Amino acid sequence: MSRRTVLPGAGTLGVLGGGQLGRMFVHAAQELGYRTVVLDPDPDSPAGLVAHRHLRCDYLDPQGLDELAGLCDAVTTEFENVPAEALARLARTLPVAPAAEAVAICQDRAREKAHFTACGVPCAPHAVIADEAQLQAVDPGLLPGILKTARLGYDGKGQVGVRTPEELAAAWDELQRVPCVLEKRLDLAFEVSVIVARNAQGELVHFPLQQNLHRDGILAVTSVPAPQVTPELQAQAVRAAEAVAASMGYVGVLCVEFFVLADGTLAANEMAPRPHNSGHYTLDACDVSQFGLQVRAMAGLPLPAPRLHSPAIMLNLLGDLWFRHGEAETTPPWDAVLALPGTHLHLYGKVSARRGRKMGHLNVTGASAAQVREVALRCSELLG
Ligand code: ADP
Ligand code: MG
Repeated sequence: MSRRTVLPGAGTLGVLGGGQLGRMFVHAAQELGYRTVVLDPDPDSPAGLVAHRHLRCDYLDPQGLDELAGLCDAVTTEFENVPAEALARLARTLPVAPAAEAVAICQDRAREKAHFTACGVPCAPHAVIADEAQLQAVDPGLLPGILKTARLGYDGKGQVGVRTPEELAAAWDELQRVPCVLEKRLDLAFEVSVIVARNAQGELVHFPLQQNLHRDGILAVTSVPAPQVTPELQAQAVRAAEAVAASMGYVGVLCVEFFVLADGTLAANEMAPRPHNSGHYTLDACDVSQFGLQVRAMAGLPLPAPRLHSPAIMLNLLGDLWFRHGEAETTPPWDAVLALPGTHLHLYGKVSARRGRKMGHLNVTGASAAQVREVALRCSELLG
């Protein structure tokens, strides 16, 4: 449906999905006086707990979707695995950002890589494996590689490292022979990501590049400004992410993750049609956050270029921190953490901790990158 501006304080914004990303979206929307509606089946969903309305139903429940459409002036999503049909149904009667088609591309590693290539953005050498013939035809030059399910992978799940054609065949069996992408294992120097936002008027802005450290396939630490990134590399990554967004006519916030290879070149890894864990530092280190831009983009508001006003380090807080003293859940020493200068604690209100579960994040800001590093290190010591 065609777009009109939904002015702050004069409308209702909806989100599909009630996780932490939905919760921080709701907070940003409420800051501008919007009413908010979350659709998520989980009665304890972090976003549902803070929204004006929580529709507890399945993402494909036609009645629930129609109720959401009736309540809202615009709708967004907080995760890419929302069925594209749900977005398409909503789009019949109200603006949906990002559009179903863009989400469908991001949902599928094969389509995602094809889109990068069409935009002239390099990515890892790869092959699609969706049937036996494609498995047999795989170029041995792609080994050693990583076999990844084309859909539904996250935080390193749905991936198997393979060194030989035999291991590849076994890995595909292990992944239930669902459509997969085999990627050549690249020699990574480090990893970065860039977040852009675009509105329906075509305004396109970006945050600075962030450098990301993963542990066990899960993002652990993000640093901004990216310590190892040259201005040329930064410009190249931003140009690539902007091309990827603009060529889809994208509306919303988009994150593109890149590998920086040992020879200094960039390869796009994957993208997310929503705010991203690596952009959580923007809540405290920028004059507008990635969630603020998500709200503005979907509401058809102007998108001024965001400004980083402080160096920052973000530490992801996984449920493991709640089990440092064995099996009994204990609250980490937040009082000691908050006694340090420039610490900003964000907890997602999840009812119980589990190992590997994202419970919150801690942003550290300060006058210099060295000071931020020092405080972040002290926080890790207190929490570790
Ligand atoms: P997820 O959807 O789980 O985030 P990714 O494709 O981003 O999956 O892979 C998770 C991590 O695994 C990456 O951040 C990177 O550290 C490593 N990785 C993935 N693909 C490759 C590759 N082709 N070469 C080297 N490392 C890789
Ligand atoms: Mg990733």
